[in-house]
Amino acid sequence: MSMFSLSGRRALVTGANTGIGQAIAVGLAEAGAEVICAGRRSCDETVEAITQAGGSASSVLVDFADPMAGQGLFGDAPIDILVNNAGIIRRADALEFSEADWDAVMDVNLKALFFTTQAFAKAVMAREGTGAVVNIASLLSFQGGIRVPSYTASKHGVAGLTKLLANEWAAKGINVNAVAPGYIETNNTEALRNDPERNQAILDRIPAGRWGQAEDIAGAAVYLSSPAAKYVHGAVLNVDGGWLAR
Ligand code: NAP
Repeated sequence: MSMFSLSGRRALVTGANTGIGQAIAVGLAEAGAEVICAGRRSCDETVEAITQAGGSASSVLVDFADPMAGQGLFGDAPIDILVNNAGIIRRADALEFSEADWDAVMDVNLKALFFTTQAFAKAVMAREGTGAVVNIASLLSFQGGIRVPSYTASKHGVAGLTKLLANEWAAKGINVNAVAPGYIETNNTEALRNDPERNQAILDRIPAGRWGQAEDIAGAAVYLSSPAAKYVHGAVLNVDGGWLAR
């Protein structure tokens, strides 16, 4: 069997109704995983794409605006792979940034990610199984960005938690890693692409010379979920068209 095969594994992907989460769900299914698509809205489109391609998928509704909403996700059939992809961004000058925008972003991007991962790991360890966690970080896990203070703080936090959890769980059968996407064409970056000057400045800095597509992220998530990455712990893998190399 291929070292990248996810056959026999069950994966839960948060925010799988669109964008990067949708592409990761499809990629994991193509690699053989049974995929549970978790979203605050229907993931029907993703489930249909997977099943039409001959894969196996189902969906569950969960809203991480309540950071503890993921607690009930791991009680039934065992789940081996957790992809923490759900995330939001709020843009405003630091001087004007509101507490509401701070809390909303931190709750979904960081607090929900931590407590959902904690619930996942408890379930894996209770059955003495093995598991993989793939967190979706960002270039703003490394860089400051502009006008996105809570997003930058949350994504730096995601990179830090990835390493902390790897340290605690590497010897306990759970791999914790992250993927840091570059500039990807999704709802998250629509405002940037609609601003011609920002759009051009971003394009000019990407060595690959183009925005990324959601599908560009799927392979890294498959790899970090697979036996090929079994000795990889606490890594944050940039998939950014070369942005951080520049
Ligand atoms: P997106 O299209 O906006 O997708 C975000 C996903 O998270 C959507 O499925 C969204 O659901 C879900 N979500 C948001 N709030 C939620 C909540 N309270 N409960 C449950 N699900 C929730 O943007 P994306 O680019 O694919 O983002 C996916 C991840 O990649 C995020 O963590 C983002 O920070 C990260 N990322 C993106 C880029 C980029 O350039 N696009 C770069 C670096 C990192 P709805 O559809 O209902 O909003």
